Amino acid sequence: MNDGSATAGGAPTISQRTADRGLPFDDDHLHEECGVFGVFGHDQAAALTALGLHALQHRGQEAAGIVTFDGRQFAFERHLGLVGDSFTSAAVMERLKGNRAIGHTRYATTGGQILRNVQPLFAEFAGGGFAVAHNGNLTNAMTLQRRLQNRGSIFQSTSDTETIIHLIATSDPGPLVDRFIAALRQVEGAYALVAMSEKKMIGCRDPLGVRPLVLGKFEDAYVLASETCALEIIGAAFVRDIEPGEMVVITEDGIDSLYPFQRLRSRFCVFEYVYFARPDSNVEGRNVYEVRKRIGAELARESPAAVDLVVPVPDSGTPAAIGFSQEAGLPFELGIIRNHYVGRTFIEPSDAIRHMGVKLKHSPNKAIIEGKRIVLIDDSIVRGTTSLKIVEMMREAGAAEVHMRIASPPTTDSCFYGVDTPEKSKLIASRMTVEEMARFIKVDSLAFLSIDGLYRAVGKPGRDRTHPQFCDACFTGDYPTRLTDRQEKETVRQLSLLAEVS
Ligand code: SF4
Repeated sequence: MNDGSATAGGAPTISQRTADRGLPFDDDHLHEECGVFGVFGHDQAAALTALGLHALQHRGQEAAGIVTFDGRQFAFERHLGLVGDSFTSAAVMERLKGNRAIGHTRYATTGGQILRNVQPLFAEFAGGGFAVAHNGNLTNAMTLQRRLQNRGSIFQSTSDTETIIHLIATSDPGPLVDRFIAALRQVEGAYALVAMSEKKMIGCRDPLGVRPLVLGKFEDAYVLASETCALEIIGAAFVRDIEPGEMVVITEDGIDSLYPFQRLRSRFCVFEYVYFARPDSNVEGRNVYEVRKRIGAELARESPAAVDLVVPVPDSGTPAAIGFSQEAGLPFELGIIRNHYVGRTFIEPSDAIRHMGVKLKHSPNKAIIEGKRIVLIDDSIVRGTTSLKIVEMMREAGAAEVHMRIASPPTTDSCFYGVDTPEKSKLIASRMTVEEMARFIKVDSLAFLSIDGLYRAVGKPGRDRTHPQFCDACFTGDYPTRLTDRQEKETVRQLSLLAEVS
């Protein structure tokens, strides 16, 4: 789900979205944009979905929605804010009746019309109501939207997910599942979808399986979720990952598995292991926490540091720092303490407050780091601004030397598959060498994990240059799909430049 980068008609760009958001503090990370969840066949479906979304809160914190069906009618609640703020009220939950529900949690743009983008999206077709929740991003949405608008479609939101709704609406008459498949055959990019009609719940991953989706069972009910941590919270058993290109159709009679798309090699997002997924989730058969520790161990072997202490940049650097310290035989210490109670509402997005932001969120543990040579472990560097502030904080607190090791390769390229990324020019690694970055963030030394080291940590012998086993485009620029909208934008830009010249 993207609400800007692939939108026609002057919609915000990726970088505008990030800037408009006025994101505070440690906005020097890429942000996953969505989590999806669904339950079919349980009389507490809405409550279970609210709990599932709560466990997926790390995948999007700005809005959440749930749609239910009670055998007669659909009900939906879509709210801005955290899941816990919106789906704990008895009045809200009372309205969400029925034994099936799907839900969505997301990042979003700021602005008065944001609510219309909150998912699940819902439409009434001739064949009945249909709701859909999307994690990912369509890379040809803008192109499809223009075509649909030329034929008379009127879009209600600026979400690329609505494109799927319009493609269903304009597809040939027939069963809804067939029309859904016909719609998805036209889209490009990344999608993990949970959808619901009056009789069915549907889960589907794009042919490359870029974003995760798992199947679980709770009592007699089927459950779909972005991550296994959302199964855990309700006590559901993990059944299996939905496979790349697979569509599961769940009805009162059971579950059917279809493969309606061209079969392709999986290109799962390797960044899910580095940062996005919750460490207690199992993703594609691997425990995320264990992978992150192995990443830290690889990093220690590739780029050791002569220091006294290993210090994680909390919280995302912590598992890799544990792996680094175990491999290097160095003490692991919490040299930075994170304040978990810094809320978004406290923040004014002014430069002055932004500058203070890092200190409000991270505090140096002076007693631990004073006089010590430390190596900081972080998961990634996006713009470099937060890294610089943390390094300055460590020096002010008396660290004798500050080294930094990054648990991923340099982030050189933007993501077009459902992760909020600055434009390439804003990514520090796209403009600077490692040595230049080290000078910019004022560390005594800086090193990144190699791409092969990352692949080894997830259990591969290295990156297969001919057939990469994952999507790693933000580290390599090797995008696994066409970027149709981007190419079209570039063509339009060049044509307008030519027109100016002539
Ligand atoms: Fe994941 Fe990066 Fe690929 Fe985006 S570009 S899907 S963040 S690996």
